[in-house]
Amino acid sequence: MSARIIDGKAVAAGVRSRVADGVASFEAENGRTPLLVTVIVGDDPASEVYVKGKHRACEEVGMRSLHHGLPAKTTENELLELVRTLGEDADVDGILVQLPVPDQIDPDRIIAAIDPAKDVDGLTPVNAGRLAQGMPGLVSCTPSGVMELLRHEGVDLEGAEAVVIGRSKLVGIPVARLLLGANATVTSCHSRTRELAAVCRRADVLIAAVGVPRLLGAEAIKPGAVVIDVGINRTDDGLVGDVDFEAASEIAAAITPVPGGVGPMTIAMLLVNTLAAARARV
Ligand code: NAD
Repeated sequence: MSARIIDGKAVAAGVRSRVADGVASFEAENGRTPLLVTVIVGDDPASEVYVKGKHRACEEVGMRSLHHGLPAKTTENELLELVRTLGEDADVDGILVQLPVPDQIDPDRIIAAIDPAKDVDGLTPVNAGRLAQGMPGLVSCTPSGVMELLRHEGVDLEGAEAVVIGRSKLVGIPVARLLLGANATVTSCHSRTRELAAVCRRADVLIAAVGVPRLLGAEAIKPGAVVIDVGINRTDDGLVGDVDFEAASEIAAAITPVPGGVGPMTIAMLLVNTLAAARARV
């Protein structure tokens, strides 16, 4: 069997096009354009690349974006002050502080200071709590991108066995909660899970969010499973996921490639969140 390749680039392009239409109607109705503000502290090259991609994406859908690049020696109080100022600025719809921040700054304190109504990364305790309680709120972008891919592929989650590997605040936990909300039977695996492959082999829907290159091989895939590989790992062979793509493709019904699977969805969902935040603030 050869799995269907889930084309994240194409799905993301569809999402971006819907956002572009939404931005145009928002402007027509409200006489202003949604605004995303990004913040980087220090000069982490990967952060620069990610944030540039986010600004380019905003431009493509007709959204405004501004950037604050702060020096590496910025104090926690200085960053808190900026985040609070942006929260009070009526012109700002979305605030994104790119992580990691330098050691002198506690990222949890910064995230908690972001106005939940502008928390387009969905990481504040308020939005994470809303998600935990099944209440509407801004949901972090990679997990909602995973759900959008499953929706687009027409995967029936009702009663399905879903296994999520990884329990980070950013990906694993919110994905598991969203799958539960879609009535899947959800198992969360992590670094201390015993018999990982055997647990994974139960999955109709397997979501890998670990950060270990090709951790999951053929022995972890149930025949006919849908495999979503969130992992992005730099290796000598280039970027690879947490799943052995070649081996899994022989067994799964559908699988995301790395790159070109979940990655493009993350930025697309950031645009969705920024437009939603702007609409909710009208
Ligand atoms: P993280 O390091 O915060 O969490 C990793 C999780 O994997 C932890 O919960 C840990 O318990 C679990 N884990 C580690 N080793 C394991 C093992 N051997 N067996 C089972 N579980 C194990 O990472 P994260 O932020 O959740 O990111 C996970 C991966 O997803 C990374 O490769 C990251 O680059 C990628 N990522 C991709 C996107 C995207 O847009 N595609 C976005 C965010 C993260």
